[in-house]
Amino acid sequence: MDLDFDKQHIWHPYTSTINPSPVYGVTSATGVKLTLENGSEVIDGMSSWWSAIHGYNHPRLNQAAYEQIGKMSHVMFGGLTHEPAIELCKKLVQMTPNGLDNVFLSDSGSVAVEVAMKMAIQYWACQGNPNKSKFVTVRNGYHGDTFAAMSVCDPITGMHSLFSNSITQQYFAPAPQTRFDQPWNEDDFLPMQELVEQHHHQLAALIIEPVVQGAGGMRFYHPTYLQRCRQLCDRYDLLLICDEIATGFGRTGKLFACEHASISPDILCLGKALTGGYLTLAATLCSEDIAAGICNDEPGVFMHGPTFMANPLACAIANASLDLLIENNWQQQVSNIESQLQQQLAPCTELPAVAEVRVLGAIGVIEMRQAVDLVSIQRQFIQQGVWLRPFGKLVYTMPQYIICEDELTQLTSAIVQVLQKH
Ligand SMILES: *Cc1c(COP(=O)(O)O)cnc(C)c1O
Repeated sequence: MDLDFDKQHIWHPYTSTINPSPVYGVTSATGVKLTLENGSEVIDGMSSWWSAIHGYNHPRLNQAAYEQIGKMSHVMFGGLTHEPAIELCKKLVQMTPNGLDNVFLSDSGSVAVEVAMKMAIQYWACQGNPNKSKFVTVRNGYHGDTFAAMSVCDPITGMHSLFSNSITQQYFAPAPQTRFDQPWNEDDFLPMQELVEQHHHQLAALIIEPVVQGAGGMRFYHPTYLQRCRQLCDRYDLLLICDEIATGFGRTGKLFACEHASISPDILCLGKALTGGYLTLAATLCSEDIAAGICNDEPGVFMHGPTFMANPLACAIANASLDLLIENNWQQQVSNIESQLQQQLAPCTELPAVAEVRVLGAIGVIEMRQAVDLVSIQRQFIQQGVWLRPFGKLVYTMPQYIICEDELTQLTSAIVQVLQKH
């Protein structure tokens, strides 16, 4: 593999081209394992950023891809439609929280968030309320890297200062403080409530990752916070956008993390695991009311339409992936992973370098006292036969749902071993 060319000419996520951190060549991947260029195999603890929930090279997902590619890989969605998209949207409407009946398919999570934000703005404009065009959210959030999505990411980790002249200023409440498993503290919600009371005339929507804040800190907060968001949005005429791009499809122990709070948002964003990690595809769902509210007034249409909207190949694989989710009994898979992670990561709490260990569903997080050195820790993980990509103080894993007990034990032992040396 021409790693030299890679180093000279290719951007990787969040890296320098002048002094890039090392990359590992992958030649193939099957099940939970990646095969590296030198022939060694590592257990992937990242599911390729939350997405490869059924593992790599899955016969059923491969089959769905072969079958679809023999018919058509892509056709435009403007004025045309196809079975894979219809089947997928039926499934999504059926499986998502109540009342989300209209589906907009797009190509990536960030775009799904852009679409959600545009829907909210266009909805209020069509109701004769063009001033309701700002968003309120919480700190430590992550919603993607495009401009509107970035404007609602945590201002610090989202590097707002760098883009301060081009980024829309939004409203930020402190991150929810009550943990998932602590007794709910009503004071936790006061700052958000005050913010909305003050600014609701300008606010189109509240956008939030339900229960799990992912890339903004891997924090698990109390579901009551989300219920309070729902109530506040109803009281002050804001739409509630839930970004389930990371949490959707079972990862937190519920099919959708909103279910921990028994609420339905007005708009829902999905992505990442939607195609089982095969292809990029995302969806933004909204209620009939929102859809009608957008289309009842000038210009009478929703103003968005990506070239690769509803890509049939991606939709066909997504359909197979959603079928597998049910057939494989995801609830059992995730709950097994949860108990094993709880048990096997617990020893980390004793380590001097570790601040905290937390587990929810198939997500295991070890928060260190200090930021880890990514390059060196990654090398140590590879030596132990596992692939992990920590960020800042966070060493975390979200394994494939199909990981077996032995493989997960290997993964957690490697984590314990490496962190012991810190
Ligand atoms: C990853 C992620 C996104 C962005 O998705 P992309 O496909 O990377 O654009 C948005 N929101 C959340 C919560 C995410 O985890």
